Amino acid sequence: VQGYAGQKVAVLGMGRTGRAAAKALAAGGAQVVVWDDGPGGREAAENDGYDLLDLTKPTSFEGVTALIVSPGIPHLYPAPHPAIAAAWDEGVPVDNDIGLFFRSFATPDWHSFDTPPRVIAVTGSNGKSTTAALIHHILVENGRPAQLAGNIGRGVLDIDPAHDGEVVVLELSSYQTDLARSLTPDVAVFTNFSADHLDRHAGLGGYFAAKRRLFAEGGPDRAVIGVDEPEGRYISNQLSEGAEDDRVIRISSGQKITAGWAVFARKGFLSEYRKGRQVGSIDMRDIDGLPGAHNHQNGCAAYAACRTLGLGPKGIEAAMRSYPGLPHRSQLVGEKDGVRFVNDSKATNVDSAAKALTAFDNIRWICGGLQKEGGLEALLPHLDRVQKTYVIGREAEDFARQLTGADCAVCGTMEEAVKCAIADAVPGDVVLLAPASASFDQYDSFEKRGEDFMAQVTRHIA
Ligand code: ADP
Repeated sequence: VQGYAGQKVAVLGMGRTGRAAAKALAAGGAQVVVWDDGPGGREAAENDGYDLLDLTKPTSFEGVTALIVSPGIPHLYPAPHPAIAAAWDEGVPVDNDIGLFFRSFATPDWHSFDTPPRVIAVTGSNGKSTTAALIHHILVENGRPAQLAGNIGRGVLDIDPAHDGEVVVLELSSYQTDLARSLTPDVAVFTNFSADHLDRHAGLGGYFAAKRRLFAEGGPDRAVIGVDEPEGRYISNQLSEGAEDDRVIRISSGQKITAGWAVFARKGFLSEYRKGRQVGSIDMRDIDGLPGAHNHQNGCAAYAACRTLGLGPKGIEAAMRSYPGLPHRSQLVGEKDGVRFVNDSKATNVDSAAKALTAFDNIRWICGGLQKEGGLEALLPHLDRVQKTYVIGREAEDFARQLTGADCAVCGTMEEAVKCAIADAVPGDVVLLAPASASFDQYDSFEKRGEDFMAQVTRHIA
């Protein structure tokens, strides 16, 4: 990281992100001091050779130029971490790895070539990882060197210095955009908007504000914006100078948009319109790696982002057809006796689970875990595609009660749920894990939950 040589910079949190930030700052010649609330983190820091400094004491900030905060640490709600509060009191700028990345990236050390690297940043409520991974895949398949980082894969400060003409594709969560002091991608993508993480952002307004920062004044050269919710329409309207302006590409799942520059998917067909004329189309119905209307929406976002870099519709389509998908997102993990098993453990909120339910028929649905704010009502309209529901997790009884009218079995554990679903399933059924909840009551992460599902499935169908 450039710009901090000889300065004293504090890093809060010694997880993967904090350690990468400390390393990058030290490599750039900064004097790094670190703090972690846990003894394990402090030990790791000492082993890495950093000086510990108790940042929860305001006096610690004397001579400190900046405080770099890890993504898991709250800065506003439910309450600012004491170190962040102290930095504010002392007038010390608070930033994160994303802010450091954007500032450093503009400096020659990251790219000593004629064509500067371009950065595509993807945000939104759902579909960020899929969209970012798909953009990356399409670019690489079309011979454009690209790196994928951010909330997916590598941390932004772990990426390699860019090569000539390279593209860096970043997935950014609201936690990351919220705190970054620099956010200057060339292309910014906003997939869609629904309620999530409201506890961290004090309600919908704060959550939207965090995402919107990527499109703030000045903003990206090009913006790809999902306009199926008012939030997206608002951002799109603010950025655009009118229908003839091609700074904004609007994307939609369901609406036909022919004005300006737009990419939309209806009934499995993707269309691109520019100035009233159709200029591209893809039949997405048999693209196995992208099943369901929600993935067609992700396809529109990725298509649009790649078009801004000059790729043609044919090359984009060919690459979409070879997209392998990401684990834990609509992932087909097995098939036996005409029954398919799909792992969508990443459906950690109600909206993503509702999308998973619309992507399949004859569903044996495994759901439950730690519920998020807002209840389960949004799932009720999709229950007609569900044969039976198998509820897991600490709140399984309550979860089942809210699914009024559904045929529910309260199973508690994944093992029991998979066993019951397999016993009930007939050819043509899909056993789908789409929890509509966080995993932390039973697992360390949604990945662990998905792996447990896959292990149980393998055990039963092997
Ligand atoms: P994110 O990185 O935003 O969490 P993912 O691509 O990892 O997005 O997908 C998260 C969950 O949301 C998965 O369960 C997936 O099936 C579902 N999903 C993917 N794309 C969309 C979309 N466009 N709209 C709603 N849900 C989606």
